Amino acid sequence: MQIVKTIGEVRSVVKQWKKEGLSVGLVPTMGFLHEGHKSLIERAVKENDRVVVSDFVNPTQFGPNEDLASYPRDLDRDAKLCEEAGAALLFNPEPEEMYYEDRTTSVNMEGLTKELCGKSRPIHFSGVCTVVSKLFHIVTPDRAYFGQKDAQQLAVIKRMVRDLNFDIEIVGCPIIREEDGLAKSSRNTYLSEEERKAAVILNQSLKIGKEMIEKGEKDAAKVKEAIVKNLTTEPLAKIDYVEIVDFNTIEPITTIKGSVLTAIAVYIGKTRLIDNFIVNI
Ligand code: AMP
Repeated sequence: MQIVKTIGEVRSVVKQWKKEGLSVGLVPTMGFLHEGHKSLIERAVKENDRVVVSDFVNPTQFGPNEDLASYPRDLDRDAKLCEEAGAALLFNPEPEEMYYEDRTTSVNMEGLTKELCGKSRPIHFSGVCTVVSKLFHIVTPDRAYFGQKDAQQLAVIKRMVRDLNFDIEIVGCPIIREEDGLAKSSRNTYLSEEERKAAVILNQSLKIGKEMIEKGEKDAAKVKEAIVKNLTTEPLAKIDYVEIVDFNTIEPITTIKGSVLTAIAVYIGKTRLIDNFIVNI
């Protein structure tokens, strides 16, 4: 596996692959990789001749009071995991390689980005759409892989690809969890031992909601109320949001029907964690 830091190097490697008629998969990440990322890379390796993993803590998707500076980084460990999973190229640019200081162009999405994480992180999805567009132009993959862990991001990227005619298939991949149900996340490393134990409340509360829906509950408010009630039993948990929306439009719904995303964001101490489930009724 090759590790490169410049856009020029990625372009020349991919150009050669394309000349040979090879298909290319892309897995965009912010690094500090875990089993969740690995599952995306392995899926991409199965479905493409060559796989590029980008490893870039994208500054434009962090708000001024968020964790950009403290976001965990470990390139050596990431490289090992990517190689084991079968990636061919690891792209690890510096921010100066990705962004011109005097840049004036960005990708902004109306709708889909106003609810859920977009509400508490107003500039987040503009940063995500911009960096993912840039990665798509740099790597020109046939397919790109995103986790359902960030369900709103997955919906946003699918919509962006449709609206802007990127010739790329977006593949959504299931959430990989710890044994006790906590969704794997690079941010779990922020948790103290006590907070780590408390963090199981996210998945536990979602499960209660999922069971209600599976048993036939159609009233979104009732499902939401049950999730909130369970979350508030954990003293270390502070709810950012609990929302039930249409997965395709990210618009809140009152009746459970169609493709339904139930998503939560919860602070455990100072660490903001997200989790969700999707049901098709
Ligand atoms: P990140 O490095 O957190 O930006 O994540 C990079 C990609 O990995 C995104 O598409 C995430 O949705 C995905 N991802 C992160 N955690 C998980 C997980 N636990 N299971 C599946 N995919 C994940």
